[in-house]
Amino acid sequence: MSGPVPPYTLTRKRMKNVRMVVQPGTGEVRVSAPLRMATADIDAWVRSKAAWIEARRADAVARPAPLSPGAEAEALKRELRPLIDELVREWVPRMGVPTPTWRLRVMHTRWGSCNRLRRSITFSVELARKDLHLVEYVVVHELAHLLVSNHGPDFQSVMDTFLPPWREHRAELNGS
Ligand SMILES: [Zn+2]
Repeated sequence: MSGPVPPYTLTRKRMKNVRMVVQPGTGEVRVSAPLRMATADIDAWVRSKAAWIEARRADAVARPAPLSPGAEAEALKRELRPLIDELVREWVPRMGVPTPTWRLRVMHTRWGSCNRLRRSITFSVELARKDLHLVEYVVVHELAHLLVSNHGPDFQSVMDTFLPPWREHRAELNGS
């Protein structure tokens, strides 16, 4: 087997087999190896996985590291809060919806959610990493749920009225 050994960081552990992860966001390769495994053997093993690493890195770097609650999430919240506040103040009277209570949360599967009965909206902290027009789309979308709970024709017509290019924004936000 030839070719260069992909760069990696090594941690020795009390374990039986070598393990490897490619960090989301950075594409950094981290290898955990048994305490007594020879470095040359670890190099050979990593080299044998070069194609797999390459594929995983391309994938990993394409998307940001998922946010976990902590200092970074708090910093993003501080950044995002005034922005959403301003958008909500602007869009509530424009759409004629009741003023909701809202909060920011670390969420991985959704950009926002709305509880119509409680008039409460939750926005994903990850929106802090998105362009303003996409944040605005999510704000208008969640406010529209104060009028219509589901995503049916009534909902779509509210969106068409207030934010005609919303379908493009949705596609952009969801990475297609
Ligand atoms: Zn929705």
